[in-house]
Amino acid sequence: ARTTAARVRRINPSPSTAAAQRVRELKSQGLTILDLTVGEPDFDTPAHVRAAAVRAIEEGETKYTPVNGTPRLRAAIAHKLRLRHGLEYTDAQLTVGGGAKQVIFLALMATLDEGDEVVVPAPYWVSYPDMVLANDGTPVIVPCSEAEGFKLTPRRLRSALTDRTRWVILNTPGNPTGAAYTTDELRALAEVLLEHPGVRVLTDEIYDEIWYADGENRSLAAVEPRLADRVFLTNGVSKTYAMTGWRIGYGAGPADLVTAVSTLQSQISSCPSSVSQAAAAAALTGPQQFVAETVRVYRSRRDTTVKLVNDIPRLSCPSPAGGFYLLVNCADAIGLRTPDGERIENDEQFARYLLDSQQVAVIHGTAYGAPGYFRISYATSTDVLTEACARVAAACAALT
Ligand code: PLP
Repeated sequence: ARTTAARVRRINPSPSTAAAQRVRELKSQGLTILDLTVGEPDFDTPAHVRAAAVRAIEEGETKYTPVNGTPRLRAAIAHKLRLRHGLEYTDAQLTVGGGAKQVIFLALMATLDEGDEVVVPAPYWVSYPDMVLANDGTPVIVPCSEAEGFKLTPRRLRSALTDRTRWVILNTPGNPTGAAYTTDELRALAEVLLEHPGVRVLTDEIYDEIWYADGENRSLAAVEPRLADRVFLTNGVSKTYAMTGWRIGYGAGPADLVTAVSTLQSQISSCPSSVSQAAAAAALTGPQQFVAETVRVYRSRRDTTVKLVNDIPRLSCPSPAGGFYLLVNCADAIGLRTPDGERIENDEQFARYLLDSQQVAVIHGTAYGAPGYFRISYATSTDVLTEACARVAAACAALT
């Protein structure tokens, strides 16, 4: 007999989770793996944030909170969005969930009916298409080439929109590319979106503070205020404050959508963890040196790794504007043979070859809608990155 619903059969477990599992298995066999798959900061949560959580526990902040988050955390989020982007949100326009991932999932669950379309520019964060499918929607994948900076162009956006389009997802800076939209690029996309009043935009800004480019990282709702009531801005504390395990993310946008998300949340989890909410409020309102310091470290790793990768014959990657990932072009290695005489047919086999021959773990690009590429996370030490690049170079040199 069938044991699962169609919505589960439509989706896949996250490939990054699968890669992490594979690395754990190999490590348990005693192999030393250079792991470049990890999508989380390699720093500890800042001390003042940990202390705020301990205080919350000691002071009895251990009960259910309002469904859409504690007033203190919502005020902290409003403060961040005002300070960073000049955006004003009332309490009714803010919601907090168990990670940005949950907030995004609930926003899709709250709005999609069968056959509704969601425009997902590729390369994409692995979860978007499956989240759309799990909620009965249809992902409309729009390929964005390396020559276009891996970014959606107004022309491609226009041709992807139909009268079934409910959402366009914009992840900037992006996972897996690190690409970020400039203010002018956001403005040009907004022009198209203004012509389509039925379409909402979900901006995933989880890497907003991990930013290296000159000039400010602007948010779509701030760039085009006429779109503000159609933008659902999502973000969280996971990446900026090294708080992936605390599971706090948030969404800001139209009150009707926020109410719908809260209604779902009230039946799913009641509220996010009270202790984590206290910690997240401290992260958003407390001293921000941690962010500046870690971004400086990420930037130096990015510069080192981009140079090392581009020095490897057959591989190349652009230098991204934000985030902590590189999407490496390995198309020139496909079709070649390994020393064992096996032909590398695609990026998945290339990634497998790096793991088996050199114990370097990366994630193949097809998982992100980017065939012919693989993703490196540089949220790891420069020593690991340097050694891993040397091994990848050796693996590439051995191909014929
Ligand atoms: N959005 C993107 C683009 C991500 O890369 C991630 C984490 O990998 C998330 C959202 C999820 O973040 P959170 O930990 O807040 O659920």
